[in-house]
Order: sequence, then C-alpha cells, then structure tokens
Amino acid sequence: MNIYGHTKNATQELRHIFNNDNKKDINSILLAIKSSWRFIHKYIKNIHPEWTIEFSTKLNIINPEELVITSNMISNARRSFISMEQEREIKTYMMYFIWIMNKLLIFNKSDEEGCRVCQGELYYYFDIEHDILIKECGTCSSWYHGKSDNTIKEFTKNIRPATRTDLIDNKISWNA
Ligand SMILES: [Zn+2]
Repeated sequence: MNIYGHTKNATQELRHIFNNDNKKDINSILLAIKSSWRFIHKYIKNIHPEWTIEFSTKLNIINPEELVITSNMISNARRSFISMEQEREIKTYMMYFIWIMNKLLIFNKSDEEGCRVCQGELYYYFDIEHDILIKECGTCSSWYHGKSDNTIKEFTKNIRPATRTDLIDNKISWNA
C-alpha cells in the first residue's frame, strides 16, 4: 500500500469520532486515534519527527480517566477533519492531523473564550515548574494564567496538557 492508501485508512479510522451515529465516549475516541495512528506514524515521523516521538509516548501512557473531551472540542476538531478528508497534499494532511489531535486531546473551550491578542483557541496546560494551570494560544502562542486570565510574560517549557484533576483543582468548569 502506498502513502495515499495509508492516509485513506487513517482518515477512515478517525471518521468514527466525527460520525453522528454513535456515542462519543473517551475509550472509543482513543481507540479510533490509535487505529488511525498505526497507518500514518511512519510518514508523519519524516515530516514532524519531534512531535511524533512526543505524541507516540503520550498515546501509550494516556489515562482515559484524566481526559476531558467535550462535544465542543469534537465539533471544533470536526472542521479540521473535513478539510483533512479532502486534502491530497501530504504535508498539509499531516498538519491537519496534528491540529485534530490537539483540538481533541488538549482541553480547550473554544466556544466560550479566545486569545485576547488574536482570538485564537486557548489550550490548557499545567506548568510543572511553577505549579500552576496555564493557557496557551494555539495561533500566536500568547500565555495566560489558567484561573485569573492574566497574561504571563515569563514561562517555562516544563509543561504537560492539563488533566481532569488539574481542571477540577482549579475550579474550571466545562459542558460535557
Ligand atoms: Zn493568540
């Protein structure tokens, strides 16, 4: 099978997440991502090697109970999926894949809030060094304090995606 056959299969596996016909529980979403990943990891590795290593590791250790995926996150990712389905250029296809993974697996509330600088989506992380919840704009990389919304000028790269526990500890609410 050539690369187009593999991306076609990868798309097919991800489609389960975005169909309207079945229930979107965390485990079935993770299963679809893992099935899709099997088809494209060896190609995306050549284009985005660092991201691939990081993502593979994350996918192996991810705890479904600490994952929050809202219906807003799914419908937001669906827009990228529709573009990815029609994309024939491999590098752009891979970019859509990465966006879909971020939109699904890094908590965000794109229906409720956005970056003050560019209105981009804010992704929630936990800053391990400073022990605080933070948000990063996916477009311009502005940083905000997770609770106060204050701009953060100094930050560390020692971060991980926010878990369900981080969100609850910081009294962040969401609509399922
Ligand atoms: Zn921004």
